[in-house]
Amino acid sequence: MARVNVYNEKEIQILKEGGRILASILIRLEKEALENVSTKSLDKMAYDLCIENDAEPAFLNYTPHGADRAFPASVCISVNHEVVHGIPNEKPKVLKKGDVVTLDMGLKYKDMFTDSAITLVVGGAEYNKIGQEMIDVATRALYNAIDIIEPGVRTGDIGQAIEDTVKKNNGKRFKIPTILGGHGIGHGIHEDPFVPNFGKKGEGVVLKEGNVIAVEPILTENTSAMNMLNDGYTFVTQDKGLAVHVEHTLVVTKDGVLILTDRLQ
Ligand code: MG
Ligand code: MG
Repeated sequence: MARVNVYNEKEIQILKEGGRILASILIRLEKEALENVSTKSLDKMAYDLCIENDAEPAFLNYTPHGADRAFPASVCISVNHEVVHGIPNEKPKVLKKGDVVTLDMGLKYKDMFTDSAITLVVGGAEYNKIGQEMIDVATRALYNAIDIIEPGVRTGDIGQAIEDTVKKNNGKRFKIPTILGGHGIGHGIHEDPFVPNFGKKGEGVVLKEGNVIAVEPILTENTSAMNMLNDGYTFVTQDKGLAVHVEHTLVVTKDGVLILTDRLQ
């Protein structure tokens, strides 16, 4: 059974500060993710902004379970058919108008971790209408999931809220790669429980006040079948269809939920 950490007021205060820093970094990176900008320069900027804020990029030199080398960059940048864990600084890409770009970043601040991701269309929504529709559905799924979170909610309830939102989209029916999903976070970047992007209400782990989780809907355009590139990190769609990913870290509060990585605060 998953053991889910409960965080106290003091720890949550640090997570709030870290989450605010991470949100501000993602806002900056989003503004800089323009045509002709290289993913390597965005990675450098992510690193510099962490250091400026007395924080550390949590993914840099981190070796997740099952990986055979450490991640070499400060931010995962996944472009177009790259689903997650794109490496921005090894074979850097120069962004083009219409590229669908996910910026996914973990931050360590005062020994506590937060994690957040955004996806954008380079140049603006009009340059990739299907990419923007995917971003809109994923974002709606994220907020529909956040809306139901309160003490007593189960990870299956969260998964169902995400899956239902994707199924109810009036446009194209996007897919959910079920091996990827959210997670507990706080003292570590990845903790129990697994927070699926699919599921059934009433199933899974019960969450309570003080639990901290990252919720992260990830959608693919046509098929959820993926391959991993031989860099050992980057997942890509097998059919080269697009992928998007949005994520917030949040804490379950006495009467609901607080988004720690909210960019609107
Ligand atoms: Mg993330
Ligand atoms: Mg995450």
